[in-house]
Amino acid sequence: SKSAGRSCFHVYSAELKAEADQRNVLEVELREAIWREEIDVYYQPVTELSTGRVKSVEALARWRHPIRGFIPPAEFIAVAEAGGLIVELGNQVLAKACRDATTMPGDVKVAVNLSALQFAGANLVDIVTSALAQNGLPETRLELEITESVFLADTQENLKTLQRLKALGVSIALDDFGVGYSSLSYLTAFPFDKVKIDKSFIDRIDRCETVAVLKSIVQLAKALKLSIVAEGVETSAQIARLHSLGIALGQGYFFSRPVPLADLPLQSPVPRRG
Ligand code: C2E
Ligand code: CA
Ligand code: CA
Ligand code: CA
Repeated sequence: SKSAGRSCFHVYSAELKAEADQRNVLEVELREAIWREEIDVYYQPVTELSTGRVKSVEALARWRHPIRGFIPPAEFIAVAEAGGLIVELGNQVLAKACRDATTMPGDVKVAVNLSALQFAGANLVDIVTSALAQNGLPETRLELEITESVFLADTQENLKTLQRLKALGVSIALDDFGVGYSSLSYLTAFPFDKVKIDKSFIDRIDRCETVAVLKSIVQLAKALKLSIVAEGVETSAQIARLHSLGIALGQGYFFSRPVPLADLPLQSPVPRRG
C-alpha cells in the first residue's frame, strides 16, 4: 500500500542520514588528524622471488582513530577524496616516506600511492621535487604508484605529467592492473616502469583462464621492458606458479604484512661517522 511505501521511505532516509552524519563526523576527525600529522605510514616489502631480497617497500597510510582504533584506508581514503583532504594527506605520506627511505639500504626503493586528484594537481612535480630535496633522497629511490583511474581525466595533460615525473628520475608503477577500466593499451600508451598485477588474479592463479591472462601480460611487459609485481601473495603454491610464469617480484602477507618502519626486515645502512 501507499502508506507502507511511505514509512519504508522514512526508515530508509533516516538510515541514509545517519550514514551521512557518520561520514561527516569521520571527515571532521580525519581533517584534525591530518592537521595534527597523526597519519602513520606503514611499509610492505616487495620481494624478488628468486633471491628473497627486498627490492622496494610500499608506503601505506594508517589512521589510528582515538576511539575506533585503526580505520582501514579503503574507508578513510574515500572520505579524504570526497572531502578534499587527499592532497594534504598524500603529501604527508610522500614526505614521511622520503624521510624514512633515507634510513633504508640504498638499493631499496620506496613506493608511494598517488590519488588521481593528486595527479591532476598543477604542482605535483614541484611537490615531489621538494619532498626529495628536503630529505636528500635520490630521485631513483622513489617510485610513484598510480591506477588507471588517473587516465579517465585529461589524457594529454596526464601524459605530460608522467613524462615530467620520469624526467626527474622517479619511476612509475601502474597499480591494481587488470581490474576496473583496465586495458592493455594503457601499458603501451604511457611510460611505466612497472606493472602491479592485482591480487584478484593471484587469488585465482590456479585456474587456467588466469594463467592464460597472466601469460599475455608477462609477454607484453617483457616486450615493453616493464617489471612485474604480483600483489597479495599469500601462499608458497602461488609463488611456485608465479615463478614458472616468469614473474620476478611478489608482495603480500606471505612475505610480510605492512609494518611500521622499525619492524621492516631490512638491513640498516652503515651509519656514517663524524
Ligand atoms: P593498494 O595500493 O592496492 O595496496 C595494497 C593493499 O593490499 C594494502 O591494503 C595491503 O595491506 C593489502 N595487501 C597486501 N598484501 C596482501 C595479502 O597478501 N592479502 C591481503 N588480503 N591483502 C594484502 P591497505 O593498506 O588496506 O590499503 C588499501 C588501499 O588504500 C591501497 O591499495 C591504496 O589504494 C589505498 N591507500 C593506502 N595508502 C594510501 C596513500 O597513502 N595514498 C593513497 N592515495 N591511497 C592509499
Ligand atoms: Ca599501491
Ligand atoms: Ca594495488
Ligand atoms: Ca587495490
